[in-house]
Amino acid sequence: MKRKAGQDRSITQNWRPATRAVRGGTARSEYGETSEAIFLTSGYAYDCAADAAARFAGDQPGMTYSRLQNPTTEMLEQRIALLEGAEAARTMASGMAAMTAALLCQLQAGDHLVGAKAAFGSCRWLTDTLLPKFGIATTVVDSRDTEAWAAAIRPETKVFFFETPTNPTLDVADIAAICAIARDHGITTVVDNAFASPALQRPLEFGADVVAYSATKMMDGQGRVLAGAVCGSERFITDTLLPFTRNTGPTLSAFNAWVVLKGLETLDLRIRRQSETALRVAAFLERRVPRLLYPGLASHPQHALAMRQMSAGGTVIALMLDGGRAQAHGLLDALRLVDISNNLGDSRSLMTHPASTTHSGLSEEVRHDMGITEGMLRLSIGLEDADDLLEDFDAALRAVGL
Ligand SMILES: *Cc1c(COP(=O)(O)O)cnc(C)c1O
Repeated sequence: MKRKAGQDRSITQNWRPATRAVRGGTARSEYGETSEAIFLTSGYAYDCAADAAARFAGDQPGMTYSRLQNPTTEMLEQRIALLEGAEAARTMASGMAAMTAALLCQLQAGDHLVGAKAAFGSCRWLTDTLLPKFGIATTVVDSRDTEAWAAAIRPETKVFFFETPTNPTLDVADIAAICAIARDHGITTVVDNAFASPALQRPLEFGADVVAYSATKMMDGQGRVLAGAVCGSERFITDTLLPFTRNTGPTLSAFNAWVVLKGLETLDLRIRRQSETALRVAAFLERRVPRLLYPGLASHPQHALAMRQMSAGGTVIALMLDGGRAQAHGLLDALRLVDISNNLGDSRSLMTHPASTTHSGLSEEVRHDMGITEGMLRLSIGLEDADDLLEDFDAALRAVGL
């Protein structure tokens, strides 16, 4: 019994989040290993030909091929579903594989999608370029404007797609209000929850249908692997997502799944600490730069909404300098501790200039429309001592005259 506790829903659903993050999904092999095993195998052998046939017919439980199932990735899928409060979850090779699968599995030519204007660069590419190429019409709206979502609905609208807080502008969308509009119109909501992670925000509790993740970010949390996940109802995952992913193959490797399993064990601890440090750094920087956005500060235009949806302000800060790209690059170059890196959600603090990196593929007009200026910087807070970060910023700000 104990050996299977991590996979027994009647037991795991009573566990609190931190316990789910450590033990959810764990299935021990005959060796009784305490830490989850890595099953690096592409295939599975059968005792007899009849067993192989029965397994392919779905009459016998068990695995057939690692594009479809793997014991290590299955443990991660159960752990993520438990953390999210979802009936089911499936992991993908990256966050973008998760976003692409979550959208394409349910859309077809003639359908219409409404997406958020402010979004991760590649998510905007899906909306603006990929979907229209296959005959799926798209409209982008300011995700903060709940009425705009309602106004964009057409008879053929099938999906609402947004992230909150957004990358990198930290706009906050009202999940409950947008999902309620969608539900009234039979529209499926897909929420990219990479920035908050299930430790701070669980969109399903606010009425979302599908939650998609870049597990590369907070879930791994230590900048090691790319990974993604899609969470939803058992029906959505089995009937809609799986036929798409089993045949197109955006499968997560067992090794990377194991790394994320280890990352999740410390998710709660890390995100709490990083959010605490982010709040301190944001309060410090706010006094030194012309404009700063952090959902945990009262100065954020949607602070109250953010605090209704999230249990803390998160680990990412956006700051806007008046001196354009030259001053923004100058600040980056003057930092000694914080790395210049376009990744985020790492245990190391990382800072990037979105206009010349993550969002450089978009036209200047689109960037402007999203609120990404030449003087904007995005800061992802890590696990270093807050005082060391404050000292690094103090010196770097002085170097650029702030
Ligand atoms: C990083 C990120 C993605 C893409 O995830 P990958 O793992 O890099 O493919 C999608 N959405 C958001 C909000 C992200 O931050």
